Amino acid sequence: MTEYTITVSELQTFMRCRRKWDYSSHSRQSLVRVGSPQTALHIGSMVHCGIEAAIHKRDPLEAVDWYAEDEFNSLQTEYINRVGTGWSQREIGQYWEQVEKAKAILREYFAKWDIDDPVPGFTYIPEGVERTFKVPLLASNDMQIMLGGTFDALIRHNETGKVWILDHKTFSRPQTGKDFSTNFQFNSYMWAAERLFGVGSIGGFIYDGISTVLPTEPEVLKSGKLTKRKNLNSSPATYLRTIEREGLDPKDYEDVLERLEEKCKGYETPFHYRTFTRINRALIRSHEKTMMMIAEDIARSPNVYPNLRWEGCWDCGYKTLCHAELFEEDSDWVKRNKFMVKRGTYGTTKRLKLSSTNVSSIDDLMKLDVAQDEPGDGEKVF
Ligand code: SF4
Repeated sequence: MTEYTITVSELQTFMRCRRKWDYSSHSRQSLVRVGSPQTALHIGSMVHCGIEAAIHKRDPLEAVDWYAEDEFNSLQTEYINRVGTGWSQREIGQYWEQVEKAKAILREYFAKWDIDDPVPGFTYIPEGVERTFKVPLLASNDMQIMLGGTFDALIRHNETGKVWILDHKTFSRPQTGKDFSTNFQFNSYMWAAERLFGVGSIGGFIYDGISTVLPTEPEVLKSGKLTKRKNLNSSPATYLRTIEREGLDPKDYEDVLERLEEKCKGYETPFHYRTFTRINRALIRSHEKTMMMIAEDIARSPNVYPNLRWEGCWDCGYKTLCHAELFEEDSDWVKRNKFMVKRGTYGTTKRLKLSSTNVSSIDDLMKLDVAQDEPGDGEKVF
């Protein structure tokens, strides 16, 4: 029986647009854009890297510097090999600006959440950090379809002992009022975790949202003092840093700092948004059926067509190629010059290419000798 692994993000891409799926899937054209990846991708990866480092008791900002340097060198090499020249000065400048921004986001994150106890009431399972999984989803014809994905972190609730899935996500728009209970990715991950660790062992899912819009620095007035205006969209950490930088006395700003502390308290603030979604058995059952149906469609070599939505395709990195096809332009030229084939060399797909160690319980996971199980690049697979 042939084994075929579909990632959770592939299922989502297939539902969003079959043409986008055809361009991106590692089992189809597997195309990636040549050049610097989108800004949001950079920042998200760097923030993840910093948080992961902190979980393993390493300096998050130093980890970002190392990661950024490595990533810069490999992206440059790839670009030179493909195009014959490196990035422009503007692209290089933008890249390092993003590195500084990611570090500023991490500074704010750890000013908000205690670096030694970032999720109060829970304990990290170190072996469950950046864990890639692969579980049987469906047997169809002669094919065993597996579902793959990567948990950002598995954490254990101190009181109940249940395992929760923690997912760090960067956001640029306010998240207030968002309900993640029916979220496709989150329910897929809870389903997979239950398959791995047993029904009843999973508590739920934690969305850990981190704003990429940084708190505003207070303006320095002509008097040399800082503004105390009420509508300042700042945080205590940023305000305090500005006080120190300007050599001012924090005592003169206690009222503003108190106000900002109040605004940035709790799980829902302008810069951080954390929600806890308990697992729902009925929802997980119906979600399983949905995933199976999509996987079956994918396995049947489906028709491929575009899905141009009313709100546009702002979420698609293949727009130039897709539009060349739509307008019957030279799409082959666009493909050859703007994209390249990159099979299984990044993200979950890359990790899934590596041999896996299966576990059937959370205790098995904790017993794993991570050093021996290390498949490379600090990534672990089970
Ligand atoms: S641009 Fe829109 S229609 Fe075209 S591939 Fe991307 S998502 Fe699909």
